[in-house]
Amino acid sequence: MRGAVLYGPRDVRFEERDTPTIIKPADAIIRVSATCVCGSDLWPYRGVNPIPQPTPMGHEYCGIVEEVGSDVTSVKPGQFVIGSFFASDNTCPHCHAGYQSSCQHREFIGTAQAPVLRVPLADGTLVATPDVPSNDLVPSLLTLSDVMGTGWFAADAANVKPGSTVAVVGDGAVGLLGVLSAKHMGAERVIAMSRHESRQRLAREFGATDIVTERGDEGVERIKELTNGVGADSVLECVGTQESMMQAIQATRPGGAVGYVGVPHGVALDGEKLFYGHVHLHGGPAPVRRFLPQLLDLVWSGKINPGKVFDLILPLDQVAEGYRAMDERRAIKTLLRP
Ligand SMILES: [Zn+2]
Repeated sequence: MRGAVLYGPRDVRFEERDTPTIIKPADAIIRVSATCVCGSDLWPYRGVNPIPQPTPMGHEYCGIVEEVGSDVTSVKPGQFVIGSFFASDNTCPHCHAGYQSSCQHREFIGTAQAPVLRVPLADGTLVATPDVPSNDLVPSLLTLSDVMGTGWFAADAANVKPGSTVAVVGDGAVGLLGVLSAKHMGAERVIAMSRHESRQRLAREFGATDIVTERGDEGVERIKELTNGVGADSVLECVGTQESMMQAIQATRPGGAVGYVGVPHGVALDGEKLFYGHVHLHGGPAPVRRFLPQLLDLVWSGKINPGKVFDLILPLDQVAEGYRAMDERRAIKTLLRP
């Protein structure tokens, strides 16, 4: 088969790789229906994370089970399944606590931009849909593998409640789905921080009530103005830079919470500012497996349509253009069809 391999900065190739097979009895092999490029893939793509050797790419996936190992009982060939970017057993203490992305036996799934994928710990990782979905539902189902679950976790970690005032830092796909999540959790006011017109439009469609275009200290000032000097009850940090993290913390009211899901790059927090900020901080790699059944219901019943974040759909062999378009911010998120 052929799949995506990153060789170095801005050098993604579509090339021959071994077709995965069952290695362990808990594995499943999936025929990938759709995969995509993640904002976090852009860190190594831009050379911010080093690439010591050619590295297969992709951690978001959904598709049809082709084969399962001898221990697998919860999914079977022919079913359409979705799984998290971290495989998890769903039985260990961390999984039971709802933190499957910290599973004691977790394995990162990093080869999903390909037509065939091996998923370890299939029983704990994969969730089957009620039926094989129609094509138009596939993009929304694919988002449950990472981006939608991550936006949802940001809102959950930021303690969004009915009536909350919420600010979202970051207008990438995760931030936009954080807006959708906050709205769905009953937030009364959702302030999206974005400078890009097409992203502002989608944010409004997902439920944003206000748009703030300023960043850094000016962005914080603007949030304070919009909230009568109080700050937001909940802030979703969906970028991962020093500026975005400080913007999130300082825009939060005393007693409020920041849910941070942007992978941190060079973020260092000032203890004194944290001490006097009186702000709850919670975040990390989203335990999307925890939210998968609930979010699957919402997508299946048509209550949410997170697949709208895909504004570029390409055949998998054009994966390099998919990365380029996101890198140059011509696309919010690229869906790839093997
Ligand atoms: Zn576990």
